[in-house]
Amino acid sequence: DQAMYVAKQRGKNRYHLFDQELDRIALIRGETLTQIEAALLNNQFVLYFQPKVNMRLGKVLGAEALIRWQHPERGLLSPAAFLPDIEGTELVIALGNWVLARALDHLQKWQDMGLNIVISINIAPRHLLHHDFVDTLKAGFAAHPQLRPHCLELEILETAALEDIGRVTAVMKECQKLGVGFALDDFGTGYSSLTYLKALPADTLKIDQSFIRDILGDPEDLAIVAGIINLTAAFHRQVIAEGVETEEHGLLLLKLGCDNAQGYGIARPMPAGDLPRWITNWLPNQEWLKN
Ligand code: C2E
Ligand code: MG
Ligand code: MG
Ligand code: MG
Repeated sequence: DQAMYVAKQRGKNRYHLFDQELDRIALIRGETLTQIEAALLNNQFVLYFQPKVNMRLGKVLGAEALIRWQHPERGLLSPAAFLPDIEGTELVIALGNWVLARALDHLQKWQDMGLNIVISINIAPRHLLHHDFVDTLKAGFAAHPQLRPHCLELEILETAALEDIGRVTAVMKECQKLGVGFALDDFGTGYSSLTYLKALPADTLKIDQSFIRDILGDPEDLAIVAGIINLTAAFHRQVIAEGVETEEHGLLLLKLGCDNAQGYGIARPMPAGDLPRWITNWLPNQEWLKN
């Protein structure tokens, strides 16, 4: 049939990557998938890093790795331009493993330079639930024997955790036994009930940037953010706000009890090579320090 035809076109040696469901996706998006696979082989992906800080202490906590595609013709592409095409496919696992390996390489280099930071990477649901995931993680640390696993944090979408709460919880616990931490990304945008939140062993909740944006003007957003912050305190979890763009965002968050932040108001995502100098030169916001 047609799916088979597309798969054959893609080359026999690659067929194992795709099951029947994926063939259907490949039919629609075959070209993009092929290009993304080629980009991976040709080393066209690159990790940018965006700092995370404690505003009250004026301390850099670490950075989140964010993937970019250095496209030969189209320039630097953000994940929105290519991730949706592969999220339903096995390719997201190959790409995720590449991100993990690169992030550990960078982390090793920074630890060798004396930087004591936590690096976060985003993990796609399909990747986390892949049967090889924990073994791949162990292999990554085995390849970097000096690395402290508690310096790696995995960000998973709140919505992803709901797909199979039992398995997600089990995998999270296995990773945490190694020392790796977990953050629930874009928190508040999914539909997770508080029962799920109670069951999930996430170390950190990451408040979605859509609630932060209008926190000064929208009383409902303010109530949501305050609610999440209080919840994390009661559940003994850490909390961080994403999308902190202004001094006022930070001041209000500090008043509400959220000290940790990430956003353009602190730093934009930057190439890996720029991060050590950024950390050395960063001048914490003086108003934030007064809290
Ligand atoms: P995310 O994990 O929630 O990452 C935060 C996104 O918000 C990033 O976009 C970041 O550049 C952007 N951002 C940070 N601070 C601000 C701010 O103050 N204002 C605004 N407006 N935006 C801000 P980016 O890099 O385009 O990534 C988008 C999403 O793509 C990420 O959302 C994450 O879900 C996904 N992603 C990125 N890298 C990876 C990866 O390596 N693997 C996987 N599976 N997903 C990734
Ligand atoms: Mg994230
Ligand atoms: Mg997020
Ligand atoms: Mg997001």
